[in-house]
Amino acid sequence: MNDRRTIRVLPDLLVNKIAAGEVVERPASVVKELCENALDAGATRISLTIEDGGRRLIRVTDNGSGMTPEDLRLAVTPHATSKIVEEDDLYHISTMGFRGEALASISAVSRLRIVSRPKAALAAHEIEICAERVESTQAVGGPAGTTVEVRDLFFNVPARRKFLRTHATEVGHVNEQVSRLALAHPSVGFEVRNNNRVSQQLPEGQSRIDRIAKCYSPELAAAMLHVERDERGVRLEAYLAPPAHSRASAQWQYAFVNGRYVRDRFIHHAIKEAYRGLIEHQRHPVVFVFLTVDPHTVDVNVHPTKIEVRWADSGLIHSQVLSALRETLQQADLAPNLRVGPSAVSVEEQDRIRREMAEALKSASPMGGSSPPAFASSGSPSFPGSGGTSEGSLGRFPVDGSAGGGPSGSDAWRRLYAPLDPPGDRDFAGSTPGHASAGATQPPVGPTKVVQMHNLYLVAESEDGIVIIDQHALHERVMYEELTRRIAEGPLESQRLLLPETIRVTPGQMATLDGQAELLTKLGIEVTPFGEDSIAVHGFPVLLKDADVAGFMRDLIDLLSGREVAVSTEVVIHKVLDMMACKAAVKSGDPLSEEEIRSLIAQKGLIDKSSNCPHGRPTTLRLTRAELDRQFKRT
Ligand code: ADP
Ligand code: MG
Repeated sequence: MNDRRTIRVLPDLLVNKIAAGEVVERPASVVKELCENALDAGATRISLTIEDGGRRLIRVTDNGSGMTPEDLRLAVTPHATSKIVEEDDLYHISTMGFRGEALASISAVSRLRIVSRPKAALAAHEIEICAERVESTQAVGGPAGTTVEVRDLFFNVPARRKFLRTHATEVGHVNEQVSRLALAHPSVGFEVRNNNRVSQQLPEGQSRIDRIAKCYSPELAAAMLHVERDERGVRLEAYLAPPAHSRASAQWQYAFVNGRYVRDRFIHHAIKEAYRGLIEHQRHPVVFVFLTVDPHTVDVNVHPTKIEVRWADSGLIHSQVLSALRETLQQADLAPNLRVGPSAVSVEEQDRIRREMAEALKSASPMGGSSPPAFASSGSPSFPGSGGTSEGSLGRFPVDGSAGGGPSGSDAWRRLYAPLDPPGDRDFAGSTPGHASAGATQPPVGPTKVVQMHNLYLVAESEDGIVIIDQHALHERVMYEELTRRIAEGPLESQRLLLPETIRVTPGQMATLDGQAELLTKLGIEVTPFGEDSIAVHGFPVLLKDADVAGFMRDLIDLLSGREVAVSTEVVIHKVLDMMACKAAVKSGDPLSEEEIRSLIAQKGLIDKSSNCPHGRPTTLRLTRAELDRQFKRT
C-alpha cells in the first residue's frame, strides 16, 4: 500500500472485466445476451447448445442478418453497436440491445469465437478472441446467419467461477432465460441442447399459451384466463392463473415490456392488488403480462441488464394492469365448489336483494348507543337476537328452520332477509345425504341445517359433503364486496358525531390527510385540523358506527402515509374498504341467531369471491362425502 495513491486510467481489459461483472453473472446471462443479439438481427430460428451447465460451452446459432468481416471486428469492441447512433435514439429504444458492451464483456472473460455470414455474402468469416486479444480472423464456410461460441466462461476470473452453482442450477437458469425469451417472442423458434441432448424444442410461430404450456406446465396453461386490451396507449395481453394455482414465490409473475422481460414494481404491485382477497397473503399468483407501449414512454437505460425500466407515467401502467386483471378475475367463476353461486340465487333475485339491501341501508339508524355488532352491510336497523329479544334462538343447533325463538327484529330487517330463505335452503340442500342429485333444482326441502360452533364456525350439509364457514371471514368478504359496490355509486353515507373526536397527529400525518380531502369525503369521513397538532373527526361512515373512531383513523393515516409506491387512489380505496370490512364484520365469538346465520350464508351467493376473505384467508372449507367415506373406511 502506497501512501499517496495515483490516479490511473485502467487498462481496457480491466475495464471490460469490470463491465462484464455487471452484465455477465453466470452462463444464463451470456445466453440472454447472445439470444437477444440474434433477435435483434431478425432471426426466426435460434439454437442454443450448452455443455457442463454452460461453463465449458455456450453456442448460439441464428439465421439472422449476419455480419461482414468489418462488423465482426467492431462487434467485439467496447461501446460499438449498430443499434443506436445518437443520444436521441436512447429515448426510443426498440431493440433488445443498444449498449454495445455484451460481446466485448463476454470476450474479456472467456474464449469467444464468432462465425457469421450476411445473406448476400458468398463466404462466412470467423473471428476468435481470447481475453480480448484477437487471435485470428479468416474466411470459412458456413450458412447465412451467425454462430457465437463462448468457451471456458470465467477461465480468467476465478472469483466468478467459484460463485457458479451446481451444473443443474446453472442449467435451470439457462432454461429459465430461454423460456422468458421464448415467451416474449413466440414467433421465433428455439431449440436447446444440453450436453448433446435436445432439452427444449419450440417451433416457430407458436402462440403464447402454447409457449406457457411448453415452457412451464400444460395444466397451468389449460387453466389460465386470458385478457387483451388496447387502451390509452398501452397494449396489454395477459394470462392469469386462477387463485388455486398460487405459488409460494412471486417469481411466477412474468412481466414483459416491448418484448423484454422486466421486474417492475408497478406491474407487480398491480398484479398483487388484482388478486387481493383471492389468495392468502403469503401466496403469489401466477401471471404473465405482456405490455407494448410507445418506446418514448419507457426508459430501458436504467440497469446494465435492462431488467428494470422507468416509466413516463407509472400510474397509467399500474391502473391499466390492475383494471384488466381485476376485471378478468371478477368475470371468471372463481366461487368455490359449493352450490351457493348463481345457480342457487338467480340473477333477478340477486338484483332484488341488492335493491332491498340498499333501501335498508338508506334508512340506517344513527350511530352510537349500544347497538349490536354490525352485520350484513350494517347501518341497517338493529338485529334480532343480539338485541336481547331472542337469546333462545342463539342455540348451537338450530336444526329447525321455524325455530321457536325466531327473529323478532324490525320489519326492515325482515324485509331485507325474508327473500333469502329459499336460496338458503337450496344452498345446503336439506335433502338426505346421498339422495341429493347433482344439479337438480329441487324445491327447498326441509329446514336449513346450519350449525354455529364455538361462536365462530358455521357447519352445514352441502350436496356433496360438509362445508365449514368462518363467520368473520365470510362476513368480511360480504362487507367488502358491498362496500366496493356502494363506493362505486358515490360517497359512503356519513354520520355526524355528537361529540367530535380529537386525535393527535404529527405534521407529516396532518399533511397526508390534507392531501386526501377527496378520498376522505368519499369514505364519509369529515375531519378538520384542530390546533397545531390535532385533528377533529366530525363525521364518520354509518357502516362503521361501532368502530373505534380514533383507532380507525390511526390505521387509515398509517395506510395513507405508508405507501411504498405512489399507487392510484383506487388502490388506496380498496385497502381502506378492506380495513372497514374487517372492522364492521361480525367477529369470532359473536353469537348469531339462526336468521343471521341463514342470511349470511345466503349472501355468500351474492359474492364473487366468497371463497376467500379480503385478507385472503379462506372463508369456507369443504369436506366431500367421498373424503368422509374414505376417512371412515366405508369404501
Ligand atoms: P449491442 O447488442 O448492445 O449492440 P453487443 O455487444 O451485444 O451490443 O453486440 C454488438 C454488435 O454486434 C451489435 O450491435 C450487432 O451489430 C452485432 N451483432 C452481435 N450479435 C449479432 C448477431 N447474432 N447477428 C448479427 N449482428 C450481431
Ligand atoms: Mg447485445
